[in-house]
Amino acid sequence: MSGVLWQMVDHRFTKAHASEYLDGELSPPERERVERHTSVCPKCRALLASLRRMIETLPTLAAQPRPSVEAGVLARLRRDG
Ligand SMILES: [Zn+2]
Repeated sequence: MSGVLWQMVDHRFTKAHASEYLDGELSPPERERVERHTSVCPKCRALLASLRRMIETLPTLAAQPRPSVEAGVLARLRRDG
């Protein structure tokens, strides 16, 4: 396989596993793959940067999976039902 094709495969892999990478859920070889790819791919570097910023600015997101809009809908459903 040519280098360009490998880069496409790594590109897909990196996009698919970006959040796992940031969460430290990837195995060492997988992390290495993501890091090697982001060093040559500005798009994936930007993707990781924006994901990381999102994680940092919304630290309670994981603890509160339900947005307030959805909570309001549920409350209304409960009241009407
Ligand atoms: Zn990429």
